[in-house]
Amino acid sequence: MAKARETVLELDLKALAHNYHYLRAKLQPETKFLSVVKAFAYGSDTQVIAKKLEELGTDYFAVAYTNEGVALRDAGITKPILVLHPQEVSFDSIIERCLEPSIYSKNILNEFLKTAKKHRQNNYPVHLKFNTGLNRLGFRKEDVAHIAAILHANNEIKAISVFSHLAASEDHSEKEFTQDQISLFHTIAEQLDILLQYRPFRHVLNTSGILNYSDAQYDMVRSGIALYGYGNEAKIDRELKPVARLKTIISQIHQLKPNESVGYNRSFAASGPKVTATLPLGHADGIGRHYGNGKTFVSVHGKKAPIIGNVCMDMIMIDITDIECNEGDEVIIFGSELSAQEFAETANTISYELLTGISQRVKRHIIS
Ligand SMILES: *Cc1c(COP(=O)(O)O)cnc(C)c1O
Repeated sequence: MAKARETVLELDLKALAHNYHYLRAKLQPETKFLSVVKAFAYGSDTQVIAKKLEELGTDYFAVAYTNEGVALRDAGITKPILVLHPQEVSFDSIIERCLEPSIYSKNILNEFLKTAKKHRQNNYPVHLKFNTGLNRLGFRKEDVAHIAAILHANNEIKAISVFSHLAASEDHSEKEFTQDQISLFHTIAEQLDILLQYRPFRHVLNTSGILNYSDAQYDMVRSGIALYGYGNEAKIDRELKPVARLKTIISQIHQLKPNESVGYNRSFAASGPKVTATLPLGHADGIGRHYGNGKTFVSVHGKKAPIIGNVCMDMIMIDITDIECNEGDEVIIFGSELSAQEFAETANTISYELLTGISQRVKRHIIS
């Protein structure tokens, strides 16, 4: 790995391959694998990651919004792409770019059907999303008959899959709730099969679902976070490899006299002689203000250096009083030796938020 000369997000494609194979090995050989690449592939690089996943053999992709699916098509991705949360305004693009919408409400069903008619489609593939307890998006069990009636009366669209999303698959204290969600999903899928007189394929598991409820893998699973190296549990994190590594360099070193302050609003005051380093990344790069004021550490030559003072838009300052280092030296923000999960936890958030927040301003370096 090359030494950083500026702020870079290194993306390790070997780590991605390792994580993909780790997850695949948890599944039956015939279970399809959907790779979730929404939000710039969890803050990394959609095109590079999706291309690699296609090469590794993923069967499907999912994104949250239509423009993310369009970007994948522009990048030459040919595998099916499920759009998890499309809005009506994007339905023309969905059809023009061969994307497959999640149909999650009666209104969305009606509107997508209209668009499919306008485009003279026949059996256009859609995915029926059911709410089984997350109460975020999806039809309810009571809607099954209505959906089946509409689908019977209109051949412009075809429900090729039925799916739901678990609310607490990583939460061992919520096993009963999760089992209830899976049972409800099962009931809904069975009823649909009867009413539709064919069997849409089924999928309900996300990353922690795969790890904790593999009996419910059905025909496909949908994984995001584990592909990027995090498993919502320390035990799993040890088996996975982080894809993204955020590195930077020391721009400038300051020798502070006692009582001198650091940064905006003077929120850090030197209790004695201190040495600080300024780093070229800040909240505009995705290191939010909640990581400032001593809560969070970065790694300088393998030693922990706390982020001190308020995080600025383009810079953070760290305390290097006890660390031998020079201007231009490399600093690891997170990655292999300092996990994004641990970094995120210092500010009461999760790896998902930290990773997806790394802004497009940060250069991506691909390690293949
Ligand atoms: C984001 C998302 C996933 C992926 O979840 P991970 O915990 O990252 O594996 C799967 N399914 C749906 C519906 C999602 O929105």
